[in-house]
Amino acid sequence: MKPPYHGGCECCAIRYTIRSTPIVVYACHCTICQTQSGSAFGMAMRIPMESFSLTRGALKIFRRTADSGQVFTNSFCPDCGTRIHHQADRSPGQISLKPGTLDDTSWLHPSHHVFLRSAQKWVVIPEDAQGFETVPEDRSWLRGGLTDRQQWDSLHRSARLVARWQCCHSPAILRQQMVRSWIGSAKAPQE
Ligand SMILES: [Zn+2]
Ligand SMILES: [Zn+2]
Repeated sequence: MKPPYHGGCECCAIRYTIRSTPIVVYACHCTICQTQSGSAFGMAMRIPMESFSLTRGALKIFRRTADSGQVFTNSFCPDCGTRIHHQADRSPGQISLKPGTLDDTSWLHPSHHVFLRSAQKWVVIPEDAQGFETVPEDRSWLRGGLTDRQQWDSLHRSARLVARWQCCHSPAILRQQMVRSWIGSAKAPQE
């Protein structure tokens, strides 16, 4: 879908417009995102900071330092508490919009799923998405992609982890399909 995109908070005190296409849309299954969203996982849509503008209201911020030492500046509606975006200090010039706040969410399709080690047991990752046990060490995926080799290494590691984890919680038929689809999608690139 082409920009501009419009969105806002639950109480409508905040409205915003975005004037560029996303760099990447991903889902994070870490326990912080589960807490923040009050749900199974959080979604993030990376966009250039300058493409975001508020058209109504003013955001309040709260800062959190992660175990990694990275500082996140989280922006939310002061009236209803809806998180609108956050910004990581190691990604200057970008923000991670919470894309569930867009007026039209029908076109969102996460290309990456990170922190699968804490994903809820019923979550099944689509075949066309890349899954990671934590996050890829190479941060190029947050700028638009990984090399083939890096993609394969990360995906294959996650495939084995998720296959093992799904095996404990799924009926036999589904289990076989899952293992086949995960391993099958992790094809080694040519060197
Ligand atoms: Zn609000
Ligand atoms: Zn997270």
